Amino acid sequence: YINQQLYTSSSQEAAKLFRNDPEAFQVYHRGFAQQVGRWPENPVDRIVRYLRQRPASLVVADFGCGDCKIASSVRNKVHSFDLVPLSPLVTVCDMAKVPLAAESVDIAVFCLALMGTNLQEILEEANRVLKQGGTLMVAEVASRFEDIRAFMNAMAQLGFKSVSKVGSQVFL
Ligand code: SAH
Repeated sequence: YINQQLYTSSSQEAAKLFRNDPEAFQVYHRGFAQQVGRWPENPVDRIVRYLRQRPASLVVADFGCGDCKIASSVRNKVHSFDLVPLSPLVTVCDMAKVPLAAESVDIAVFCLALMGTNLQEILEEANRVLKQGGTLMVAEVASRFEDIRAFMNAMAQLGFKSVSKVGSQVFL
């Protein structure tokens, strides 16, 4: 129920939800971990594998980082953003407005975190902090998309060129 709320409200409303009811966040994360644990593969592991193949000097921003699995698994500098701190590595903020300078990161990640009805604002924020030629990685459950082609077109309009798409359930 909370997951659905996050996908159907703006990121500002989501921030308010967790501010007003911090326990909801704990409940949500327990449910999230249980659900992902049943999948054949957790996309965050694939993202970690990818990052390990790239230079450790690349700076990463993890939007909606949850328990900071990425930051705790790679040598890169990782900025981890979430609404509530599940780990001391988290910078608490709404991912529509992160405390990073423009063009300061090489890789921006949304792992099962591309939620919120103000997706355009969120993706523009990722675009702002990414360096020219940087990489945006999105892992999302296919059923979350009403029309993948429309999504890819919208991404192109926001300035992102699709370089690789992996998997039938999860796209990178
Ligand atoms: N990326 C992690 C967690 C995914 S769960 C993983 O793959 O394990 C989705 C996460 O996005 C949750 O932790 C939720 O709190 C966060 N989130 C949702 N809306 C957000 C927002 N507006 N700003 C920051 N984080 C948000």
